[in-house]
Amino acid sequence: MPTEDLGKIETIVQGIAASQGIAYGQIFLYLKSDIEVPSYQIEPTKRLDEISRFDQAILVTRQQIQKIMAEVDKNLGPDEARIFDAHLLVLEDQALIAETIREFESTGLNVETCFNKISQRYINAFAEIDDEYLRERAGDLRDVAQRVLQNLLGQPDQSLSRLVEKRVVVANDVSPSDAAGIDSSQAIAIITDLGSKTSHAVIVARSMQVPAVVGLRDITKQVKHGDWALVDGYEGIVILNPSEQTLFRYGKIKRIKKGFEQRLREANRQPAVTLDGITVTLRANIEKVDEVSLVKDFLANGVGLFRTEYLYLNANRIPSEDEQYFAYKTVVEALAPAPVVIRTLDLGGDKPMAGAAHLFPKEDNPFLGYRAIRFCLDHPDIFKDQLKAILRASMHGTVHLMYPMISGREELARANTVLDECKAELDAKQVAFDRKLLVGTMIEIPSAAVTADLLAKDCGFFSIGTNDLIQYLLAIDRGNNSIAHLYEPTHPAVLRILKNVVDQGHQQKIKVSVCGEMAGDVIYVPLLLGLGVDELSMTPPLLPAVKYFIRSMKLSDARSLADEALKITSPKEIYALCERFYNERVKVE
Ligand code: PEP
Ligand code: MG
Repeated sequence: MPTEDLGKIETIVQGIAASQGIAYGQIFLYLKSDIEVPSYQIEPTKRLDEISRFDQAILVTRQQIQKIMAEVDKNLGPDEARIFDAHLLVLEDQALIAETIREFESTGLNVETCFNKISQRYINAFAEIDDEYLRERAGDLRDVAQRVLQNLLGQPDQSLSRLVEKRVVVANDVSPSDAAGIDSSQAIAIITDLGSKTSHAVIVARSMQVPAVVGLRDITKQVKHGDWALVDGYEGIVILNPSEQTLFRYGKIKRIKKGFEQRLREANRQPAVTLDGITVTLRANIEKVDEVSLVKDFLANGVGLFRTEYLYLNANRIPSEDEQYFAYKTVVEALAPAPVVIRTLDLGGDKPMAGAAHLFPKEDNPFLGYRAIRFCLDHPDIFKDQLKAILRASMHGTVHLMYPMISGREELARANTVLDECKAELDAKQVAFDRKLLVGTMIEIPSAAVTADLLAKDCGFFSIGTNDLIQYLLAIDRGNNSIAHLYEPTHPAVLRILKNVVDQGHQQKIKVSVCGEMAGDVIYVPLLLGLGVDELSMTPPLLPAVKYFIRSMKLSDARSLADEALKITSPKEIYALCERFYNERVKVE
């Protein structure tokens, strides 16, 4: 520990364990809040110096943006880097610069105050214009203005793409687009004020295989850049300025956990077969094409959920049919003959897309709003490009197509009508696709779960999205940490609805999988299998622990567990029952 930290008091903050692992390092504080700008008069003799300070800040900002562009170009490609062109253009805007200087000359106030006032005026004006393109410029302007102000005030650049050393990222929240900008080799852990176990930032942290603790309420206020933190992603604990004893204790815990993880990885080479000889299909959830290597490393049986919206979010625009086709083909070809379940676009909700803000209305309740299939059915052009890309990719391996957020049979029929149109259009152009392509739906809205008997007749498979299903069933916003304790996967309502979906699916002889976070949490695995779930799909790094546990249990015991759980009324008791089932079979030491 560095000497300046000696004497600082160790502080333990409890949050929600979101991604496993232990990390210790210095903090990178990522704050998106508005910067506080001090206001003061500049003496007349110092006014020229003040203007050159402003010129210098503009110059430094331009250099910073160019450096980021070069990094993004190297790491993600030229299309992604081009997003920053708009930022450079803001700095070329003579009106903004000239007006700031005019404001300074007339008021004599420091340039930060003048620049802040003028840039805010522009941001507000842009934000109100009834033109999508100009409205989007407000976001660019806000970003650049923030950088200029930071440079004027001598504050460190805090955007996530500036993370160039190994650090613990501390943020109020990490949006999917923020996460796309994180260099995964530099973020050693992610901790946030907001969030719950199923928020998308967490899903991203898990796929990056870094520990994450969320729901820490005001951790961003308790720390500053460069502070030291120990992050325990197993217990959901963050220890600020840990003592030598704490570090020693955690060193031991980390070694034990590492030893156990090693055991798990070795066992991962074995098939996922229960002690009574039942094979369970385990697949991977992915967000990006390059995660195919994780699917292979962790020996998943193909992909159970490809969250394709990340192709859109990472590019920050709607990718063309061809771009999507190449992305899907790469994944499908690499994993053939194992299946790849490609889920159609699930934008909206907590996955807004800045680059297509004009396509999404401002909503009071985005989770109950214009999201996923609702958006797609409203934009057949965008939807069709994706469907055709998936159909074309189906020639390169085994593709299953899946719709998100289906609420009932009519919506499913509408989606299938668009799919049929796409097939006809491809046929007309003599473009080949797999005519036996399996088409299924996610079950993640209670109305779909309750009418699973009707949906099963028109579906090739069901995949239960427990993240959303629980959110909507229990009316608990999955990203809201103040009610996160009420988000209970073991609520009797959840168990009953899961049972209904599985039973109805099986009556129509279709497979039922779970691809929500519940599938990768060992505590719930026997419950799901006992209820009859056929397949589990999870973030690849979670596979070894799930497989190890499956190999340590009998399916007949899991069935008895589920039967017993269905008779219990208290979610906590059901959880305790599941925990006991795990602890009796798996020893970490
Ligand atoms: C789910 O809702 O459980 C799911 C898998 O989808 P997502 O987390 O992408 O909403
Ligand atoms: Mg979902």
